[in-house]
Amino acid sequence: MFAFQRCVNPDCGGTFGIDEVLHRCPHCGSLLDVDYEWDKLAVPKSLAYFERYWAERSNPWRFSGVWRFHELLPFAPLEKCATVGEGQTILQRNDAVASFVGKDSGSLFLQYEGLNPSGSFKDNGMAAGATHGRLVGAKQAACASTGNTSASLALYCGVTKLMKSVVFVGSGKIAYGKLSQALDYGARTIQIRGDFDDAMARVQEVSRKMGIYLLNSLNPFRLEGQKTIMFRVLEALRWEVPDWIVVPGGNLGNSSSFGKAFIELKKLGLIDRVPRLAVINAAGADSLDRLYNGEGLRWNGGRVDHAKIDAFYAQMDAENRRADTIASAIEINRPVNLTKCLRALDFCNGVVRKVTDQEIIDAKAQIGANGFGCEPASAASVAGAKKLVEEGVVGRDERVVCILTGYQLKDPNATVAYHGDDQKFFGDYLGVHGIKTARYANAPVVVDNDIDKILDVLRDA
Ligand SMILES: *Cc1c(COP(=O)(O)O)cnc(C)c1O
Ligand SMILES: [Zn+2]
Repeated sequence: MFAFQRCVNPDCGGTFGIDEVLHRCPHCGSLLDVDYEWDKLAVPKSLAYFERYWAERSNPWRFSGVWRFHELLPFAPLEKCATVGEGQTILQRNDAVASFVGKDSGSLFLQYEGLNPSGSFKDNGMAAGATHGRLVGAKQAACASTGNTSASLALYCGVTKLMKSVVFVGSGKIAYGKLSQALDYGARTIQIRGDFDDAMARVQEVSRKMGIYLLNSLNPFRLEGQKTIMFRVLEALRWEVPDWIVVPGGNLGNSSSFGKAFIELKKLGLIDRVPRLAVINAAGADSLDRLYNGEGLRWNGGRVDHAKIDAFYAQMDAENRRADTIASAIEINRPVNLTKCLRALDFCNGVVRKVTDQEIIDAKAQIGANGFGCEPASAASVAGAKKLVEEGVVGRDERVVCILTGYQLKDPNATVAYHGDDQKFFGDYLGVHGIKTARYANAPVVVDNDIDKILDVLRDA
């Protein structure tokens, strides 16, 4: 195999075998990339090459929206790759959402990753991560998660029987749709009396002590799978590069992998231009925004100012600032893939913005009303696009793709609280997140069980 692992720090540049299970560079502690000796591999001459696989849908690896791009993530032999039919996702033009965002019709597209088997984009990465786990002979895999990674890991292990899964979650904060998946798919679910950061710390200890394969966000193989989200966006646009990709930012794995995808496509001569990248934080979990826009932190050729980051986190701890947003999937204050995200922003001439929970939940209602139910975190992309159009950073006619990262039913409480009677059902679930109005609410109408009254209500409408 012409694949290896490489430290992202150019002053180190350590390289390691594909069969090594590492979470960070053993020399300097930086993040690792999966890299390839492209000149020794059969690389397609154009992206249209991949169209030949459209006719092979009875082959599970060609059906997979991840593995039908195997030539661009060739770290394991195709027949060893784990698949549960991930990546059957769609890109759709949505003029109603374009109008909400302030854009011309025909210029806004939604990439609906909620259609994955476990309901979030995480399945793209899990297909690749589980493949590496099998490659190194793991018997058990574990992760800590705000919910979707656990759901995805549990699903892959449940279907493929490659490994047993253990998922660590904090108490209280996980959305029920996600917790129910981990339980239903049969993962050993450890609910720590603590928060996500506590769960994260413990899972690392446990995996070290018991030799369990860790599938958390540091795992560079997961990011290989997530590159294919961009390949499918290009595929749906007939291999034309859009002007902007807008994505919510939590642990920053997705934005990092998108950047890596474009770096590689450009290097291989498969695209001639690169889209701009917009990463959107929730205002209640805005470390990237503060570091990038407030502190001027940059990739800087790989020489990232780590002293600045350390000082920032020290200050955050001193002020006891905790991540807090209705968008639980991005409720993270110490994004593990920060440096890789800076690289993506650098290569894609990117911008970072933050949006409030009010902006997120209103955007979510507009996305839902126009046919693409999503969970709150996903709506940060559309709310962010709206903000960038208002600022004049994104042009009304520029082609924008917003990534909808997770399915609507992941977090039904947020939806019902917005549309229905929050106080009654949820004890001010919206209010604690600073959400004051529900401008696009579609409230249920309560009527007596009486035909005339029901007819009256319907005539009024
Ligand atoms: C994981 C997740 C995110 C955040 O993605 P990162 O790669 O951690 O930045 C956003 N939305 C949903 C639905 C997720 O599951
Ligand atoms: Zn290193």
